[in-house]
Amino acid sequence: MALIVQKYGGTSVGTTERIEHVARKIKAFRDNGDDLVVVVSAMSGETNRLLELAEAVHPHARGRELDVLLSTGEQVTIALLSMALARLGCPARSYTGSQVHILTDSEFNKARIRTIEQDRIRGDLGKGRVVVVAGFQGVDEHGNITTLGRGGSDTTAVALAAALKADECQIYTDVDGVYTTDPRVVSDARRLDRITFEEMLEMASLGSKVLQIRSVEFAGKYNVPLRVLSTFIEGPGTLITFEDENMEDALISGIAFSRDEGQLTVTGVPDHPGVAYKIIGAVSALNIEVDMIVQNVGADGLTDFTFTVHRNDYERAMEGLREAANELNAREVRGDTRIAKVSLVGVGMRSHAGIASKMFEALGREGVNILMISTSEIKISVIIQEKYLELAVRALHDAFELAGPPEERIDSART
Ligand code: ADP
Ligand code: ASP
Ligand code: MG
Repeated sequence: MALIVQKYGGTSVGTTERIEHVARKIKAFRDNGDDLVVVVSAMSGETNRLLELAEAVHPHARGRELDVLLSTGEQVTIALLSMALARLGCPARSYTGSQVHILTDSEFNKARIRTIEQDRIRGDLGKGRVVVVAGFQGVDEHGNITTLGRGGSDTTAVALAAALKADECQIYTDVDGVYTTDPRVVSDARRLDRITFEEMLEMASLGSKVLQIRSVEFAGKYNVPLRVLSTFIEGPGTLITFEDENMEDALISGIAFSRDEGQLTVTGVPDHPGVAYKIIGAVSALNIEVDMIVQNVGADGLTDFTFTVHRNDYERAMEGLREAANELNAREVRGDTRIAKVSLVGVGMRSHAGIASKMFEALGREGVNILMISTSEIKISVIIQEKYLELAVRALHDAFELAGPPEERIDSART
């Protein structure tokens, strides 16, 4: 008998029929003798719908009240799933994040989990009940409802698994595992049997939204056995593991991409110490994270800077940059949001040279111009024009021979 924490994402609980399907799956695990704590997301589209409602009454709605609103999506699903389980003769109890006491900090809209109380959960499990917990939400020390950022139900599940020392944390979604790249963009992407925490963390950070970044961090830190599986297709899924010698020594594990970037450039600034700080500092002071930074080789005592930020922060970053540029008597400030980032990820890069040149060759062959480049030990990222994104991902997938045999191709449940 095992203690398993399962998480079902929005598409998996997107209709009442799907909720019933999930209930039958859970019942089968119970019949097998496993103890289950189940985390659910809001029904697919619901969180976006709530965000649109908020936007309609306040164009920049954020903070406490937004969390009161957004947390309702998950509350609907926990109740429906518990009812569906009861109907199957499988006793279940639903809890909101606040009821089960998932204590977070007070950073509304992107709160971090601090502690989780186990007594209630253990009590229910002891009575043979399935515990159904609302994902994506918690409560701060003052009793305010908080949410954990988009995709946060993954983190709820991993945090519960860590707290309860569960035997496994299973993330059920609409694809049957982690693929070499988003299978919706490259149809012959291959499912990976395993991927390391490190690689998964990079993939998530660089745009693959199959797991929320925080959930991977948590799982790595607390050593939670984590698996991504399909709600609709039977199969082993993908295990997220620590690196071991037997892992297939692929150079590249996957390709991640993101459209969430905006690029800002300031030209003709003095090429002397302290200028980089004035420019980047002006943006950081607004609490905006800067991603890639490039400074050109100076000429005539002047130089140019280009950097990227999350697209949501672009307008504010631009305002900050304009002010700094004025102070520095810069020649020009310009920006572009029609860009995208494509990244190759793989622990195999550590021990192999030539990956960057192969990447640039493949992009060059397709006529894709590279605007910025950044590398770290296990990843290479490039910024390109957004219109070339899918072409670039496919070209790289081919160049690095990541495609899988046809029988492993995704059979999508998303309609
Ligand atoms: P859920 O609602 O279950 O949380 P998400 O939409 O958040 O599901 O995450 C699953 C989606 O992640 C898939 O439908 C797929 O399009 C996307 N995705 C992006 N990159 C990958 C990848 N490398 N492997 C698998 N899925 C990926
Ligand atoms: N419902 C939330 C979202 O759509 C949380 C989640 O699904 O993980 O982002
Ligand atoms: Mg998700």
